[in-house]
Amino acid sequence: MKIFFKGFNYSQDGPGNRLVYHLQGCNMHCPWCSNPEGMSFTGGTEYSTEQIVQECFRSRAMFFSGGGVTFTGGEATLQWEDLLEVLKQLRAANIHTAIETNGTSPYLPEIQKHVDYMMMDFKHYDKEVFQNFTGANIDPLLRNYEYLCSIGRQLHIRIPLINHVNVEDPKGFAEILSRFDTSNVVFEFLPYHEYGKKKWKTEYQITDGFVSADQLRRFQKVFAEYHLKTIHT
Ligand code: SF4
Repeated sequence: MKIFFKGFNYSQDGPGNRLVYHLQGCNMHCPWCSNPEGMSFTGGTEYSTEQIVQECFRSRAMFFSGGGVTFTGGEATLQWEDLLEVLKQLRAANIHTAIETNGTSPYLPEIQKHVDYMMMDFKHYDKEVFQNFTGANIDPLLRNYEYLCSIGRQLHIRIPLINHVNVEDPKGFAEILSRFDTSNVVFEFLPYHEYGKKKWKTEYQITDGFVSADQLRRFQKVFAEYHLKTIHT
């Protein structure tokens, strides 16, 4: 498993205190990415699945407040074979697991069977805009979303809100996201920040990305109208 960063984090990467692994490589190139060093498929440090599993076992005492292990990225699902193996071993050892994913993997229906807590990004609802900003096709993400809703899967959808990118039309989001059964889905808005800006080696493309309190309130209001449950972590 290729990893570019690992460490403990409380509350932002799933419940409780968690050991978070950032897996190298992403199939998107979002210009607001706060971990640009994780996008490339080169770099990172190679660990065997056994090394990861043993490290998790040794860290058990740290998984307080309902914590455990989170796999994020980059895009964690791109290393799906190793990921599946580690997830299975952690579940067998009763360790809580979570993944953060951009939602495009064709292996997500299989991976989710072995994950306790799923976080999935939803960056835009419009196919063309999505493609322009992320470089990826939205269709696999929509298929996965529909499937996960159809099986009543617990899902935490995270929507980064970026001025001039995706804040114009909250209804566009709400309409697509409410098409399926969302009884077990919660939504979280992540207002734009620039924590990763300094890490960009190429020119940072986002200017004036911060959202206003008003823009955020509009999203909260529209999602409430569509009976989409929102949370804040
Ligand atoms: S999907 Fe996530 S990790 Fe990949 S480029 Fe976009 S923000 Fe970065």
